Amino acid sequence: MKDAKKGINTICTHVGGVEDTVYKGATSPLYMSSSYAFEDVDIKRYPRYYNTPNQEALCKKMAALEHTEAAMIFGSGMAAISTALMTFLGTGDHIVLQQTLYGGTYNFAVTQLEKFGISYSFTKGWEVEDFEKELLPNTKLIYIETPSNPLLTITDLKAVSDLAAQHGVLTMIDNTFASPINQNPVDFGIDIVLHSATKYMGGHSDLCAGVVAASQENIDKVFQTAICFGGSLSDYTVWLLERSMKTMALRVGAQNENAMQLASYLETNPDVFKVNYPGLSSHPEHNLATSQMKGYGGMLSFELQAAIDVSLFFKNLKLIKPSMSLAGLESTMISPVKTSHALMSPKDREKQGIGDNLVRFSSGIEEFKDLVEDLEQALSKSKTTSVLA
Ligand SMILES: *Cc1c(COP(=O)(O)O)cnc(C)c1O
Repeated sequence: MKDAKKGINTICTHVGGVEDTVYKGATSPLYMSSSYAFEDVDIKRYPRYYNTPNQEALCKKMAALEHTEAAMIFGSGMAAISTALMTFLGTGDHIVLQQTLYGGTYNFAVTQLEKFGISYSFTKGWEVEDFEKELLPNTKLIYIETPSNPLLTITDLKAVSDLAAQHGVLTMIDNTFASPINQNPVDFGIDIVLHSATKYMGGHSDLCAGVVAASQENIDKVFQTAICFGGSLSDYTVWLLERSMKTMALRVGAQNENAMQLASYLETNPDVFKVNYPGLSSHPEHNLATSQMKGYGGMLSFELQAAIDVSLFFKNLKLIKPSMSLAGLESTMISPVKTSHALMSPKDREKQGIGDNLVRFSSGIEEFKDLVEDLEQALSKSKTTSVLA
C-alpha cells in the first residue's frame, strides 16, 4: 500500500483524483456521464456500478486514508452501513451491536433485521467482556462505534478484533466520529470500516455521502450487494467530496485542537458539572484512546449544572448554532435528550448516563476565544431564577 505511506496532507491533496490529461487543470475533471461506450466487454461503466472515473478515483483516496486495499463510496452514511450489514448477514445469522449506536443504525437494526431472519443483541456496555457475553454460535458480526455518541466512550479496537478472530466473527466499525485522520481501525485488526462522509470527510455541511473501506476480498462482496441496493452517489457530489477532502487533515487538526482546549476550559467552569472528552486525563479510557487514536477528535459532550436552563442556554448562543448534524467548519451543539435520544425512555437514558442537561458539542474551526466568549455570555443569561433568588 504505497499511497498509505505518504504524509496525510499529501494523501488528502494528491491521492485519488482524476488527472486532467487534456488541459492539465489542477482539479479533477468531472465526468457526469451515465452512459459509456464499451471499452471491452469486462468494463461496463455506469454510476450504479460504482465505477465512473470520479467514483473510482475517490475510492483510492478513501482506501489510502483508511489503510485498506479498497473502498466504496455511497449516497449516504446509512446507504454504506445498510449495504455493508446486508452483505455479511443472512437468514439465521446473529449480530452483536454496541449499545451506544448512531440513531439511524439502531433504527435499521430494530426495524429491518428481523424481516430477513437475522437476530441481534445489544451489549450492555463497551468493554470487551460486554461483547463476549453476547456471542452466540451463529454470531457473524460484531459492530462497534468508538468514540461513541454522545458520551465519547472508547471501545478497545484490538481487544474486540482479537475476540472476534478467536470466534471466527467479522468486525465492523462506524469510524465517523474519529475520521481517518484520528483513527485507523484496520491497524488494530478491525475488518470493515464505515463512514458517514457527510461529516468530517465532507466537512462543509453541504453534502451527504458514505464510505465502506476494507480488504479487496470484502469490498468485492460489498459490491455485489451494492449494485442490487443501488445506493450510489451522484458524480457531482463525488467531485465535491473529493475537493472537500483535500483540506480534511487541516480542518480536523484545527477541530481537534479546539475540542481539547474547550474540554479543558469547560472542566474548570463552575457552571459545568462534567465533561466527556477522550483527550482529558479525567476520561476513564484516556490511556486507551491515546494508544489507538492519533488525535482525540472534534466531538465532546458536557453536562451543565442543574442551575442552568438548557433551553435558555441554547437560545442565548449567538455564534454557535444548535444543529443535528456535526463535523462542519462551524461549531454546533445539540441536546441529545431533545433530539437523537428523544425516543428513549428517561429511565433508559439515565441508565446510559444521558442526562437532561447533557450537551453534545461539535467543534468547528473558529478561534477558541470566540467560542468561549459565546459560551460564557449564553451561560450567564441562562441561570434559573430559583437559583438567582
Ligand atoms: C451521520 C452519521 C451516520 C449516518 O450518516 P448519513 O450520511 O446521515 O446517512 C452514521 N453514523 C454516524 C456516527 C453519524 O454521525
